[in-house]
Amino acid sequence: VLARAKDVCKRNGLLILSVLSVIIGCLLGFFLRTRRLTEQEISYFQFPGELLMRMLKMLILPLVVSSLMSGLAALDAKTSSRLGIITIAYYLWTTFVAVIVGIIMVSIIHPGGAAQKENTEHSGKPVMSSADALLDLIRNMFPSNLVEATFKQDENGSQIQNFALDITPSPDVVYKSEPGTSEGMNVLGIVIFSATMGIMLGRMGTSGVPLVSFCQCLNESVMKIVAVSVWYFPFGIVFLIAGKILEMDDPTAIGKKLGFYAITVVCGLVVHGLFILPIMYLFITKKNPIVFIRGVLQALLIALATSSSSATLPITFKCLLENNHIDRRIARFVLPVGATINMDGTALYEAVAAIFIAQVNNYDLDFGQIITISITATAASIGAAGIPQAGLVTMVIVLTSVGLPTDDITLIIAVDWALDRFRTMINVLGDALAAGIMAHICRKDFAKQSDEVKVPLICE
Ligand code: ASP
Repeated sequence: VLARAKDVCKRNGLLILSVLSVIIGCLLGFFLRTRRLTEQEISYFQFPGELLMRMLKMLILPLVVSSLMSGLAALDAKTSSRLGIITIAYYLWTTFVAVIVGIIMVSIIHPGGAAQKENTEHSGKPVMSSADALLDLIRNMFPSNLVEATFKQDENGSQIQNFALDITPSPDVVYKSEPGTSEGMNVLGIVIFSATMGIMLGRMGTSGVPLVSFCQCLNESVMKIVAVSVWYFPFGIVFLIAGKILEMDDPTAIGKKLGFYAITVVCGLVVHGLFILPIMYLFITKKNPIVFIRGVLQALLIALATSSSSATLPITFKCLLENNHIDRRIARFVLPVGATINMDGTALYEAVAAIFIAQVNNYDLDFGQIITISITATAASIGAAGIPQAGLVTMVIVLTSVGLPTDDITLIIAVDWALDRFRTMINVLGDALAAGIMAHICRKDFAKQSDEVKVPLICE
């Protein structure tokens, strides 16, 4: 027994450490809350966690660019368009299903009931229309300056981002995002550009080889950095989670309705993440989803700790390649695109939140408005970046589409930091399972082609 336990620890050492770090982080956080640390002490305490976020953020840009360019260049035109179409269709379908799950849950639990509005002093800030928000989304797909896109959103395409700063929470609610995440980086624009470049490089034949080989090398080296830095992550997770618990508002101050709202979101996420998505995986691939999910558990823990699917991307890659043995050409396309546009958890939460706000306002939504919410929640989740609390910001699209007051977003801010972690886990899980499903559907196309573009000039 001892020998077996030793073997299990050896093979799953990192995973066990990560689980422990989440538990220790929670315990430490709640213990230190009783010590009433000053703001400065808390910020020093959060430093190791901030370093973890910075490390992950540092890897996003080279990883997204290199994986999409080398991944798509390695495929012929027929395979890349087939993979692209099936992946996008699958992403839209699962996001829509998530929204429907959210709508059913919020209709059954009815968390907003006959609630009295608490905490709804309107900030009087100008409200952004959903048309503007959608135009912003499209604008961000085409960054006017690529270099700038890696630092910040396009100047004209930054209104959603600015709106985030315009939400003025009540004084006891602090809207603060994680330190050092990819706020400001226009990942959507970078994904669109890199994917297009990858497809074109694949069509250029031998003249495209030098750039493709550069991207392949870059991709491999980023993954090697990931392999080393993962050993720091359990340590960082402890401080990231404990630091957040130290910062949070007094949990007893959260109203009953808000508590029910949080329960509704979590139940919806559980139904979607633990039943619907795995059943789809089982149905399509005929493989055991539990084994698959176990393989990506570490990525899910990182998602829980960081609230960012973009920051989790390097670990999702590692888990899929090493534990689930997914073809890297598939992972290189499906994961970066998924981390940017496929957010089942966010879509579900947006639908629940919008209907909760309608319930709180005693606003009866008709069937047409529910349909509108389901479509706009899908669009809003696509528009949300893979960064902490991005969904809170794009929710303005959903609320304005049915005439609900956008200032009421302040109602749900108090619990959003926690819900964000859970929905990010489902976002990451959705991307990972999608890679598993695509690997199954496209296995014949990929079996026919060699794994990499041949690099005659440089490597031979
Ligand atoms: N934090 C989420 C993610 O990174 C996005 C959101 O729902 O706010 O996937």
